[in-house]
Amino acid sequence: MSFSSLGLAPSLLNAVTASGYTEPTAIQSAAIPAVLRGEDVLGAAQTGSGKTAAFALPLLQSLLDNRSGPRQLHGLVLVPTRELAAQVGETIRKLALHLPMQVKVAIVFGGVSINPQMMALRGGADIVVATPGRLLDLLDHNALKISRTAMLVLDEADRLLDLGFSEELGRILEQLPTQRQNLFFSATFPPEVQALADTMLHQPTRLEV
Ligand code: AMP
Repeated sequence: MSFSSLGLAPSLLNAVTASGYTEPTAIQSAAIPAVLRGEDVLGAAQTGSGKTAAFALPLLQSLLDNRSGPRQLHGLVLVPTRELAAQVGETIRKLALHLPMQVKVAIVFGGVSINPQMMALRGGADIVVATPGRLLDLLDHNALKISRTAMLVLDEADRLLDLGFSEELGRILEQLPTQRQNLFFSATFPPEVQALADTMLHQPTRLEV
């Protein structure tokens, strides 16, 4: 399998080459075509599997194609920790560098002052990478709107629930549109993670790597 057979735009293939990736990982080979077809995806994938690029590349491609028409927010990526927020946000930014337009990626997490994050969201963002608690704070401050979001990504869903974010996730899901594409990644699938996947996903393509 090669990156060029996955259906990605030339500008994203350039980004892949610039990142030094020569071959897609298993989760990338499986997830990228499914996401590009517009399917919901449930991925069982560990850290180190290349899952970040597996959702970042098709997320950027759908932003490029703007299949969903004008939206407030193209992609919302929810992650359990500030470290992961920074890491995922930087990966998305790096992969977006070769696109023919500017992509605004906002990275927001708790434990730091909210004001700079509110400023960063002014004028809108294409993609927001967030921890759930801080996202809710920002929503309460009207710093962004998520009611017309095209794509939702849950990364490390098992850790999100382990860290007690269940209620926050419920409040966020209430504010999202029902019409959206969902990508759900988790290393493990205990019953509460599966239950969350069941409420979030619509006829998902299941991928195990
Ligand atoms: P992740 O599982 O997304 O945290 O990625 C783990 C590491 O693998 C990161 O350092 C990525 O830059 C790297 N990586 C992701 N995809 C590929 C690929 N196709 N080839 C080589 N390295 C990759």
